[in-house]
Amino acid sequence: MDFEANTSHPAEAPTDAELDETVRIARDLIRMDTTNYGGGKSKGETVAAEYVAEYLRGLGLEPELIDSDPGRTSVIARVAGRDSSKGALVVHGHLDVVPADARNWSVDPFGGVIQDGMLWGRGAVDMKNMDAMILTAVADILRSGERPARDLILAFFADEENGGVLGSHYLVDTRPDLFAGATEAISEVGGYSITLGGKRAYLVQTGEKALLWIKLIARGPAAHGSRVVRENAITRLAEAVAAVGRQEWPIRLTNTTTELLAEIARILGVDPQKVGPDELAIATGTASSFIQASLRTTTNPTVLTAGYKHNVVPDSAEALVDIRSLPGEEDAVLAAVQELVGPDIEIEVMHRDVGLENEFSGPLIDAVISTLTEHDPGADVLPYLLSAGTDNKALSKLGITGYGFAPLLLPAELDFPAMFHGVDERVPLDALVFGRRVLTDLLRTY
Ligand SMILES: [Zn+2]
Repeated sequence: MDFEANTSHPAEAPTDAELDETVRIARDLIRMDTTNYGGGKSKGETVAAEYVAEYLRGLGLEPELIDSDPGRTSVIARVAGRDSSKGALVVHGHLDVVPADARNWSVDPFGGVIQDGMLWGRGAVDMKNMDAMILTAVADILRSGERPARDLILAFFADEENGGVLGSHYLVDTRPDLFAGATEAISEVGGYSITLGGKRAYLVQTGEKALLWIKLIARGPAAHGSRVVRENAITRLAEAVAAVGRQEWPIRLTNTTTELLAEIARILGVDPQKVGPDELAIATGTASSFIQASLRTTTNPTVLTAGYKHNVVPDSAEALVDIRSLPGEEDAVLAAVQELVGPDIEIEVMHRDVGLENEFSGPLIDAVISTLTEHDPGADVLPYLLSAGTDNKALSKLGITGYGFAPLLLPAELDFPAMFHGVDERVPLDALVFGRRVLTDLLRTY
């Protein structure tokens, strides 16, 4: 933004005292670079974990810090509720972020910059925003001398961006006692608003696609680059990669996407029999990139590795493919991929995790809907299936039903799905304040 040439005092960033506490915490967390590069490579989460633990101690809680590996710290704290006979609610976030290449950004991705009414930086929406909202919502309840309606288990996990191996999965596998009594969970990538037909609607995440991270391996004879080599490993791998990458997976609606598309059609006033699922998804505008991917399996090649010298044919070539199948279809999709690439390509499953799908009903969903509409009267609240995954997958191993609910009231023009892992990730300051209030009320009453 340009300032007037004759302005003697350029507009200054708001002072700390002028910022909502949620904004300050999210900003502080963004300034702690907790980049997770994947494959066990990471800057670590310890600094952020200690910051969060310190805040929780200040509320009179007794957080436990657990390292899965050096530097890979998660934080768990229990908050006693008014009625401990109710199932405990896990309210969780992750402390790591995906890498950010500063050359592509308009601001320093780890600067915690506040400008144009927004907080900018890696983690502003995924998910240091929600980490901060959880902390201040719990603080609002405890500082007013109240208690949440039921026991809360606050969890701030390491390593979510690498499938939770050194975070949620590690804790669920080695310390299930930390989650004793928990029945449900809320966390990220849901609860944000979209604009449908000029009207605001909130998407609550009630399910997640399954995850299959595979490696394709082609083998062939090593040879001089001048020879006739029909079984060239790179050529064969390239054909396999192209087949998988070009595959058009058919649309298959689940209960969640059937309900979502029917609701979208109702709000837009169109006949779902006449307008196809993809068209309905596109009609949601910025949310369409999330919703279209929830209607079908996706198979995206993401990494290629082969060769070491211009005049040498290597004896192997490898590609990584990120597969997101609909819940329950993992094995069928793997078989279909093997069929696509042919029997000579080996498939190695590097990491897999379940899909989830819950009903869009029940007391928690009722509480989510009533709290949201109390704070934003007239808004619609819709279920959706997340095309990616969260730590709810790990918690599901303990029978905990997880939802995505990080409430944010967003301006219609903000392309929110593009913020996730995107360049110039940012969140409006007033959306964070809204989220704090909604979350506070939900935890106070549910
Ligand atoms: Zn995330």
